[in-house]
Order: sequence, then structure tokens, then C-alpha cells
Amino acid sequence: MSALKFHQFACLSDNYGVLIHDLQTGDTASIDAPDADAVENALKGNGWSLTHILVTNHHWDHTQGIAELKSKYGCHVIGPQAEASKIDTLDETKNDGDQFTFGGETADVISTPGHTLGMINFYFPKSGVVFTGDTLFALGCGRIFEGDANMMWNSLSKLAKLPPETVVYCGHEYTQANANFCITIKPENQALAQRAKEIDSLRAQGKPTLPTTIGLELETNSFLRVGDAAEFARIRTAKDNA
Ligand code: FE
Repeated sequence: MSALKFHQFACLSDNYGVLIHDLQTGDTASIDAPDADAVENALKGNGWSLTHILVTNHHWDHTQGIAELKSKYGCHVIGPQAEASKIDTLDETKNDGDQFTFGGETADVISTPGHTLGMINFYFPKSGVVFTGDTLFALGCGRIFEGDANMMWNSLSKLAKLPPETVVYCGHEYTQANANFCITIKPENQALAQRAKEIDSLRAQGKPTLPTTIGLELETNSFLRVGDAAEFARIRTAKDNA
């Protein structure tokens, strides 16, 4: 059994924060720092103290809380080597294929450029959990701000190869709009239609639609169900203009 606990909370207008807590060592990591107050409230609610921040990308809605949390907790901040010049609060930088220990587990760093050029994701194979930042969303993927479609397609293809039961936490609650878009691409996908109903029901109750799994995304996410980078690019452009 995994010794890691995961706590997801909504913050800002549509971001998610996630805390990872190791029961044995007491180590606690925040995935990104979208909002220092929200992270602190989540820590207090669980009785945890912050030891690490794992940063996926340099955008403000993932980094703006780092400085305040670092000054309060003295936590160790790990983030993308390729964005070190844009994030001045990093203590340690990581590249694709790097590993590090958090609590009693090994984390694998997966580089997934596209949304930003240096985006990294954190995969915990023992727990079977991946943090995809703004690369893979439930029924969607991040907008391609800094990279190109080929780059994003390659990044999503890496995530698609993780075991199907892998639990996916991502940076935003965009699922309902994504579902509406995916249905326009594949109205005959029954698994997608069923999932869209469940999503509508969850959102009507103000509940999160995350986390998801790699397997569920492979079944229903139009951005993962395309055959090649060119088809991916067409769908990404259609979504941008939707
Ligand atoms: Fe974001």
C-alpha cells in the first residue's frame, strides 16, 4: 500500500492545488503554488507542514504563491531546469528522465513541452499517480502557447504510455467545456457521452471532475484519440477557435 496521501483543492478561478503527504516521514509537497493562502488553508485543514513545492511550469497561476510559502515554511522548491531563468525561487532543477526521492517514494520527471517550453510533469510509479500540470487535462490538453503542435503531441504521447490505471491530477477544472468540445468531434463515442453526463452532474453539485485516469482519457479524450500529430494539430486549432 502506498504511504502517500493526496489532497486536491480548488483555488483561483479554475485552478487546482494538490498536496502530497507521506505518512511515514511527514513530508508534504504542494504541486505548484497557485495561491499561497489556499495552499496554507489546505495544509492547516490536514494538520500538515509544507516541506516541498514541485513546480510544473513558470506561468503565474502555478508560481505566484511560491515566495510566500517558502518564506513561511522554508520549503525546498523543485522545478523545471528549462524554466529556471523564469522562476527565481527554485532550489533544485530537473530535466526529462531525472528522478528524486519524496517521502518514501521515487518521483520520475517527464518533460512535456508545448503549453510552455520547459513544462515538466511528476510521476510517482509506486502510488500510480501523475501530475500533468497544463499538459494533459480531463478531456483536453493545454493551449500551445510556447511550443508547437508536434511538441505537444509528443508530450501527450509520453503520458498516454503510462499504465491505464494511473491517476491523473492536472492544473485546471476545464472538463465540462472540454467534454462539450469532444462530443462535437466524436458524437458516437458512448463512453464519452456517459462521462459528459457524469461531469454535468458533478459540476451542478459544485464538485470536482478530477482526478481522472490515463485509461479513461484514452477512451474519451479526443486529443489522445487522434492518429498522428497533424490530426492532433487540426483538433487543437478547432478547440482554440471554438
Ligand atoms: Fe495554468
